[in-house]
Amino acid sequence: MIRENIERVKENIRIACEKSGRKTEDVALIAVSKTKPVSMLQEAYECGCRDFGENKVQELVEKWEQMPKDIRWHMIGHLQRNKVKYIVDKVYMIHSVDSLRLAEEISKEAGKKGVTVSILIEINVAEEETKFGTTCEEAVQLVEEIARLPHLVIKGLMTIAPYVENAEENKQYFEKLRQIYVDINHKNIDNVYMAELSMGMTGDYETAIAEGATYVRVGTGIFGERFYTG
Ligand SMILES: *Cc1c(COP(=O)(O)O)cnc(C)c1O
Repeated sequence: MIRENIERVKENIRIACEKSGRKTEDVALIAVSKTKPVSMLQEAYECGCRDFGENKVQELVEKWEQMPKDIRWHMIGHLQRNKVKYIVDKVYMIHSVDSLRLAEEISKEAGKKGVTVSILIEINVAEEETKFGTTCEEAVQLVEEIARLPHLVIKGLMTIAPYVENAEENKQYFEKLRQIYVDINHKNIDNVYMAELSMGMTGDYETAIAEGATYVRVGTGIFGERFYTG
């Protein structure tokens, strides 16, 4: 099942890229494996997946220990400052940085471990109350402040769009995120190399690709529905 799903998602990515005149290799697929057992991640790995997304620190660390070391782990969930120390030397990228205080903690812990961490700034473009992320208005200033910190590099922006039946409804949010990305790039802020737009999930990744996504985060579309217990 996982193999077929991955093939289908990749084919959809290819078609979406073709439609919008983009190169397929400019869009990376992150297999969002949260709540799923290592056996399923292993299967995705065998199908060629090397980018995995997790949203909980403990789960990421446990899977990191069990899975091959050439995997790029993406932290995509809300991150508490007291847990940063467990993952700074294990993650390839943290997509969910939305405050200066969190960035300061990442910078500090990365310094202790002698690593440089790539981060994305999470923006709550749709202004949903239930979601984390900075506001569109505050984004530029936050990027300027975080950019002064050592041991981390801002690589781009991330957003989680609302859950909608019709993916086209989210086009406006993806456009907005790209616009902020372009604005920030024009400012030529030191230490900021805007290259990545992390946007689009199972329900709307094709729409996100049309608006410039470089990372799409697909969970259900690869691993099936998630069942939460407790
Ligand atoms: C769970 C999650 C996803 C994947 O969601 P699906 O709809 O299952 O593809 C993507 N991004 C974030 C931040 C998530 O928490």
